[in-house]
Amino acid sequence: MAPPMPAATFAALFRAEGITVLEVGDWRDHNRNSKGPWGEVHGVMIHHTVTRGTATTVRMCRDGYPGLPGPLCHGVIAKDGTVHLVGYGRANHAGLGDPDVLRAVINEVKPPTDNEASTDGNRHFYGFECENLGDGVDPWPPEQIEAIGRVITAICRHHGWGARSALRHLDWQPGKIDPRGPGMDWDDILTRVTARLAGDKPDPKPATPKPAAPKPLPKPTKPTVDLSQLVAAAKSNPAAKGTPVTYSGVRTVEAALVDAGLLAKKYSDGHYGTTTVTAYATWQRRLGYTGKDADGIPGRTSLKRLGDKYGFRVVA
Ligand SMILES: [Zn+2]
Repeated sequence: MAPPMPAATFAALFRAEGITVLEVGDWRDHNRNSKGPWGEVHGVMIHHTVTRGTATTVRMCRDGYPGLPGPLCHGVIAKDGTVHLVGYGRANHAGLGDPDVLRAVINEVKPPTDNEASTDGNRHFYGFECENLGDGVDPWPPEQIEAIGRVITAICRHHGWGARSALRHLDWQPGKIDPRGPGMDWDDILTRVTARLAGDKPDPKPATPKPAAPKPLPKPTKPTVDLSQLVAAAKSNPAAKGTPVTYSGVRTVEAALVDAGLLAKKYSDGHYGTTTVTAYATWQRRLGYTGKDADGIPGRTSLKRLGDKYGFRVVA
Protein backbone atom coordinates (compact mmCIF):
# COMPACT_ATOMS: atom_id res chain seq x y z
CA MET A 1 0.00 0.00 0.00
CA ALA A 2 1.37 3.34 -0.95
CA PRO A 3 0.48 6.59 -2.61
CA PRO A 4 1.21 6.36 -6.35
CA MET A 5 4.71 7.45 -7.27
CA PRO A 6 5.20 10.62 -9.36
CA ALA A 7 5.05 10.14 -13.14
CA ALA A 8 8.69 11.21 -13.58
CA THR A 9 9.78 8.52 -11.13
CA PHE A 10 7.72 5.96 -13.01
CA ALA A 11 9.60 6.59 -16.27
CA ALA A 12 13.00 6.84 -14.57
CA LEU A 13 12.59 3.56 -12.69
CA PHE A 14 12.07 1.58 -15.86
CA ARG A 15 15.10 3.10 -17.55
CA ALA A 16 17.19 2.29 -14.49
CA GLU A 17 15.99 -1.30 -14.84
CA GLY A 18 17.37 -1.44 -18.39
CA ILE A 19 14.03 -1.10 -20.15
CA THR A 20 13.63 0.90 -23.37
CA VAL A 21 10.94 3.48 -22.59
CA LEU A 22 9.03 5.61 -25.10
CA GLU A 23 6.93 8.44 -23.74
CA VAL A 24 3.79 8.96 -25.78
CA GLY A 25 2.38 12.51 -25.97
CA ASP A 26 1.15 14.01 -22.72
CA TRP A 27 1.07 10.62 -20.97
CA ARG A 28 1.93 12.14 -17.60
CA ASP A 29 -1.37 14.04 -17.55
CA HIS A 30 -3.49 11.62 -19.54
CA ASN A 31 -5.79 9.84 -17.09
CA ARG A 32 -9.32 9.29 -15.80
CA ASN A 33 -8.75 11.07 -12.49
CA SER A 34 -11.91 13.15 -13.02
CA LYS A 35 -13.97 9.94 -12.94
CA GLY A 36 -12.79 8.44 -9.69
CA PRO A 37 -9.97 7.99 -7.21
CA TRP A 38 -6.38 7.00 -7.97
CA GLY A 39 -4.47 5.41 -5.09
CA GLU A 40 -3.55 4.01 -2.64
CA VAL A 41 -1.76 1.63 -4.97
CA HIS A 42 -1.30 -1.99 -3.99
CA GLY A 43 0.09 -3.76 -7.03
CA VAL A 44 0.81 -4.14 -10.73
CA MET A 45 -1.61 -5.75 -13.18
CA ILE A 46 -0.63 -7.38 -16.46
CA HIS A 47 -2.98 -7.72 -19.46
CA HIS A 48 -2.94 -8.69 -23.10
CA THR A 49 -4.45 -6.40 -25.70
CA VAL A 50 -6.03 -8.69 -28.32
CA THR A 51 -4.37 -6.59 -31.03
CA ARG A 52 -1.65 -6.97 -33.61
CA GLY A 53 0.90 -4.29 -34.48
CA THR A 54 2.62 -2.02 -32.00
CA ALA A 55 1.47 1.32 -33.44
CA THR A 56 -2.19 0.26 -33.48
CA THR A 57 -1.87 -1.23 -30.02
CA VAL A 58 -0.27 1.86 -28.51
CA ARG A 59 -2.85 4.14 -30.12
CA MET A 60 -5.75 2.06 -28.84
CA CYS A 61 -4.34 1.89 -25.31
CA ARG A 62 -3.86 5.63 -25.27
CA ASP A 63 -7.17 6.67 -26.86
CA GLY A 64 -9.44 3.80 -25.89
CA TYR A 65 -12.33 2.76 -28.10
CA PRO A 66 -16.07 3.43 -28.30
CA GLY A 67 -17.48 2.50 -24.91
CA LEU A 68 -14.13 2.52 -23.11
CA PRO A 69 -12.22 5.81 -23.09
CA GLY A 70 -8.46 5.78 -22.69
CA PRO A 71 -6.02 5.52 -21.20
CA LEU A 72 -6.54 1.76 -21.00
CA CYS A 73 -3.33 1.32 -18.99
CA HIS A 74 -0.17 3.16 -17.97
CA GLY A 75 2.24 1.39 -20.25
CA VAL A 76 2.09 -0.84 -23.30
CA ILE A 77 4.70 -3.59 -23.37
CA ALA A 78 5.38 -4.27 -27.03
CA LYS A 79 6.51 -7.57 -28.52
CA ASP A 80 10.10 -6.27 -28.67
CA GLY A 81 10.07 -5.39 -24.97
CA THR A 82 9.79 -1.62 -25.45
CA VAL A 83 7.52 0.05 -22.91
CA HIS A 84 5.32 2.82 -24.34
CA LEU A 85 4.01 5.06 -21.58
CA VAL A 86 0.50 6.18 -22.58
CA GLY A 87 -1.11 7.44 -19.39
CA TYR A 88 -0.59 8.10 -15.75
CA GLY A 89 -3.18 8.16 -13.01
CA ARG A 90 -6.50 6.41 -12.99
CA ALA A 91 -6.81 4.30 -16.13
CA ASN A 92 -9.49 2.00 -17.53
CA HIS A 93 -7.71 -1.32 -17.24
CA ALA A 94 -8.68 -3.36 -14.21
CA GLY A 95 -12.41 -2.81 -13.78
CA LEU A 96 -14.28 -4.28 -10.85
CA GLY A 97 -12.71 -7.29 -9.20
CA ASP A 98 -12.57 -9.51 -6.18
CA PRO A 99 -11.88 -7.90 -2.77
CA ASP A 100 -10.39 -11.20 -1.55
CA VAL A 101 -7.86 -10.96 -4.35
CA LEU A 102 -7.04 -7.38 -3.37
CA ARG A 103 -6.46 -8.58 0.17
CA ALA A 104 -4.14 -11.33 -1.10
CA VAL A 105 -2.17 -8.80 -3.15
CA ILE A 106 -1.84 -6.53 -0.12
CA ASN A 107 -0.65 -9.49 1.95
CA GLU A 108 1.55 -10.67 -0.94
CA VAL A 109 0.18 -14.18 -1.03
CA LYS A 110 -1.08 -16.24 -3.96
CA PRO A 111 -4.54 -14.88 -4.79
CA PRO A 112 -7.64 -17.05 -4.37
CA THR A 113 -9.85 -17.78 -7.39
CA ASP A 114 -11.74 -14.61 -8.29
CA ASN A 115 -15.47 -14.91 -7.85
CA GLU A 116 -16.63 -11.36 -7.15
CA ALA A 117 -16.61 -8.15 -9.17
CA SER A 118 -17.24 -5.49 -6.57
CA THR A 119 -13.98 -3.63 -5.97
CA ASP A 120 -12.56 -0.77 -8.04
CA GLY A 121 -9.26 -2.00 -9.42
CA ASN A 122 -8.48 1.09 -11.52
CA ARG A 123 -7.86 2.88 -8.27
CA HIS A 124 -5.41 0.40 -6.83
CA PHE A 125 -3.24 -1.07 -9.58
CA TYR A 126 -0.61 0.10 -12.00
CA GLY A 127 -1.62 -1.44 -15.32
CA PHE A 128 0.31 -2.75 -18.30
CA GLU A 129 -1.19 -3.95 -21.55
CA CYS A 130 0.98 -6.35 -23.51
CA GLU A 131 0.73 -6.65 -27.25
CA ASN A 132 -0.68 -10.11 -27.93
CA LEU A 133 -3.66 -11.48 -29.82
CA GLY A 134 -4.79 -13.38 -26.75
CA ASP A 135 -5.96 -16.29 -28.89
CA GLY A 136 -3.79 -18.79 -27.04
CA VAL A 137 -1.69 -19.21 -30.19
CA ASP A 138 0.13 -15.89 -30.58
CA PRO A 139 3.52 -16.41 -28.88
CA TRP A 140 5.07 -14.17 -26.24
CA PRO A 141 8.66 -13.41 -27.31
CA PRO A 142 11.41 -13.67 -24.67
CA GLU A 143 12.13 -9.92 -24.98
CA GLN A 144 8.55 -9.12 -24.03
CA ILE A 145 8.54 -11.56 -21.10
CA GLU A 146 11.83 -10.08 -19.88
CA ALA A 147 10.37 -6.56 -20.05
CA ILE A 148 7.28 -7.64 -18.09
CA GLY A 149 9.50 -9.00 -15.34
CA ARG A 150 11.57 -5.83 -15.26
CA VAL A 151 8.54 -3.54 -15.17
CA ILE A 152 7.12 -5.46 -12.22
CA THR A 153 10.51 -5.49 -10.51
CA ALA A 154 11.03 -1.75 -10.92
CA ILE A 155 7.68 -0.93 -9.35
CA CYS A 156 7.98 -3.48 -6.56
CA ARG A 157 11.48 -2.33 -5.70
CA HIS A 158 10.33 1.29 -5.51
CA HIS A 159 7.45 0.49 -3.17
CA GLY A 160 9.25 -2.20 -1.17
CA TRP A 161 6.83 -4.86 -2.45
CA GLY A 162 7.44 -8.53 -3.23
CA ALA A 163 6.63 -10.37 -6.47
CA ARG A 164 3.14 -11.31 -5.29
CA SER A 165 2.20 -7.65 -5.61
CA ALA A 166 1.89 -8.44 -9.31
CA LEU A 167 -1.26 -10.03 -10.64
CA ARG A 168 -2.92 -10.83 -13.92
CA HIS A 169 -6.24 -9.44 -15.08
CA LEU A 170 -7.52 -13.03 -14.98
CA ASP A 171 -6.64 -13.20 -11.29
CA TRP A 172 -8.72 -10.11 -10.61
CA GLN A 173 -11.94 -10.11 -12.59
CA PRO A 174 -14.13 -13.17 -13.14
CA GLY A 175 -14.40 -14.02 -16.84
CA LYS A 176 -11.07 -12.46 -17.85
CA ILE A 177 -8.49 -14.69 -19.51
CA ASP A 178 -5.58 -12.32 -19.95
CA PRO A 179 -2.70 -12.71 -20.24
CA ARG A 180 -2.26 -16.07 -21.93
CA GLY A 181 -0.48 -17.79 -24.80
CA PRO A 182 2.69 -19.72 -25.56
CA GLY A 183 5.63 -18.33 -23.58
CA MET A 184 3.44 -16.64 -20.94
CA ASP A 185 4.45 -18.53 -17.81
CA TRP A 186 3.31 -16.45 -14.84
CA ASP A 187 5.12 -18.46 -12.19
CA ASP A 188 8.33 -18.06 -14.16
CA ILE A 189 7.81 -14.30 -14.34
CA LEU A 190 7.26 -14.08 -10.58
CA THR A 191 10.39 -16.16 -10.00
CA ARG A 192 12.40 -13.76 -12.15
CA VAL A 193 10.99 -10.79 -10.27
CA THR A 194 11.94 -12.34 -6.93
CA ALA A 195 15.45 -13.02 -8.22
CA ARG A 196 15.90 -9.47 -9.52
CA LEU A 197 14.52 -7.99 -6.32
CA ALA A 198 17.11 -9.93 -4.33
CA GLY A 199 19.77 -7.58 -5.68
CA ASP A 200 19.21 -4.28 -3.86
CA LYS A 201 20.01 -2.14 -6.88
CA PRO A 202 18.47 -2.24 -10.35
CA ASP A 203 20.56 -4.18 -12.82
CA PRO A 204 20.56 -1.88 -15.84
CA LYS A 205 22.17 -4.39 -18.19
CA PRO A 206 19.94 -4.33 -21.25
CA ALA A 207 17.99 -7.47 -21.89
CA THR A 208 19.64 -9.55 -24.55
CA PRO A 209 17.51 -11.90 -26.60
CA LYS A 210 17.75 -15.34 -25.10
CA PRO A 211 19.21 -18.27 -26.98
CA ALA A 212 16.94 -21.26 -27.48
CA ALA A 213 18.03 -22.94 -24.25
CA PRO A 214 17.20 -20.65 -21.35
CA LYS A 215 19.98 -20.04 -18.85
CA PRO A 216 19.30 -21.01 -15.27
CA LEU A 217 18.23 -18.05 -13.13
CA PRO A 218 20.88 -16.58 -10.87
CA LYS A 219 20.49 -17.71 -7.32
CA PRO A 220 19.19 -14.87 -5.19
CA THR A 221 21.65 -13.85 -2.50
CA LYS A 222 20.31 -13.49 0.99
CA PRO A 223 20.33 -10.06 2.59
CA THR A 224 22.19 -9.70 5.87
CA VAL A 225 21.07 -8.15 9.13
CA ASP A 226 23.59 -6.85 11.63
CA LEU A 227 22.41 -7.79 15.11
CA SER A 228 24.03 -4.92 16.99
CA GLN A 229 22.76 -2.27 14.58
CA LEU A 230 19.32 -3.83 14.69
CA VAL A 231 19.26 -3.85 18.49
CA ALA A 232 20.37 -0.22 18.56
CA ALA A 233 17.47 0.68 16.25
CA ALA A 234 15.03 -1.39 18.32
CA LYS A 235 16.07 0.44 21.46
CA SER A 236 16.21 3.99 20.09
CA ASN A 237 13.48 4.10 17.42
CA PRO A 238 10.32 3.85 19.58
CA ALA A 239 11.21 7.01 21.52
CA ALA A 240 12.32 8.95 18.43
CA LYS A 241 10.35 11.82 16.99
CA GLY A 242 8.57 10.83 13.79
CA THR A 243 9.48 7.53 12.15
CA PRO A 244 13.17 7.84 11.34
CA VAL A 245 14.99 4.94 9.69
CA THR A 246 18.27 4.50 11.54
CA TYR A 247 19.30 1.12 10.16
CA SER A 248 18.37 -0.24 6.74
CA GLY A 249 18.34 -3.85 8.01
CA VAL A 250 15.15 -3.08 9.93
CA ARG A 251 13.31 -3.32 6.63
CA THR A 252 14.55 -6.85 6.12
CA VAL A 253 13.39 -7.90 9.58
CA GLU A 254 10.04 -6.16 9.16
CA ALA A 255 9.52 -7.88 5.82
CA ALA A 256 10.09 -11.21 7.59
CA LEU A 257 7.60 -10.26 10.31
CA VAL A 258 5.09 -9.40 7.58
CA ASP A 259 5.72 -12.79 5.97
CA ALA A 260 5.23 -14.42 9.37
CA GLY A 261 1.85 -12.73 9.63
CA LEU A 262 2.93 -10.76 12.68
CA LEU A 263 3.14 -7.27 11.22
CA ALA A 264 0.76 -5.41 8.94
CA LYS A 265 2.48 -4.45 5.72
CA LYS A 266 1.85 -0.75 6.24
CA TYR A 267 4.13 -0.82 9.29
CA SER A 268 6.97 -2.31 7.28
CA ASP A 269 8.64 1.08 6.90
CA GLY A 270 12.21 0.63 8.14
CA HIS A 271 11.38 2.29 11.45
CA TYR A 272 11.60 -0.07 14.45
CA GLY A 273 8.67 1.55 16.26
CA THR A 274 6.39 0.19 18.97
CA THR A 275 4.37 -1.82 16.46
CA THR A 276 7.52 -3.57 15.30
CA VAL A 277 8.53 -4.15 18.92
CA THR A 278 5.15 -5.76 19.58
CA ALA A 279 5.40 -7.89 16.43
CA TYR A 280 8.89 -9.07 17.31
CA ALA A 281 7.81 -9.87 20.88
CA THR A 282 5.09 -12.08 19.41
CA TRP A 283 7.76 -13.85 17.36
CA GLN A 284 9.80 -14.41 20.52
CA ARG A 285 6.79 -15.83 22.35
CA ARG A 286 6.12 -18.06 19.37
CA LEU A 287 9.60 -19.51 19.95
CA GLY A 288 8.77 -20.13 23.61
CA TYR A 289 10.36 -17.09 25.21
CA THR A 290 8.48 -15.39 28.02
CA GLY A 291 8.76 -12.32 30.22
CA LYS A 292 11.84 -10.18 29.66
CA ASP A 293 13.08 -12.59 26.98
CA ALA A 294 10.07 -11.64 24.88
CA ASP A 295 10.49 -7.88 25.05
CA GLY A 296 10.57 -7.26 21.29
CA ILE A 297 14.32 -6.48 21.27
CA PRO A 298 15.96 -9.06 18.98
CA GLY A 299 18.38 -11.59 20.41
CA ARG A 300 20.74 -13.69 18.32
CA THR A 301 18.78 -16.93 18.48
CA SER A 302 15.34 -15.51 17.75
CA LEU A 303 16.75 -13.38 14.93
CA LYS A 304 18.59 -16.29 13.41
CA ARG A 305 15.43 -18.41 13.54
CA LEU A 306 13.52 -15.60 11.78
CA GLY A 307 16.25 -15.26 9.16
CA ASP A 308 16.46 -18.99 8.52
CA LYS A 309 12.77 -19.12 7.92
CA TYR A 310 12.31 -15.88 5.93
CA GLY A 311 15.55 -15.57 4.04
CA PHE A 312 18.17 -13.35 5.62
CA ARG A 313 21.53 -13.95 7.33
CA VAL A 314 22.48 -12.59 10.73
CA VAL A 315 25.92 -11.03 11.13
CA ALA A 316 27.60 -9.74 14.27
ZN1 LIG B 1 -7.19 -7.07 -19.29
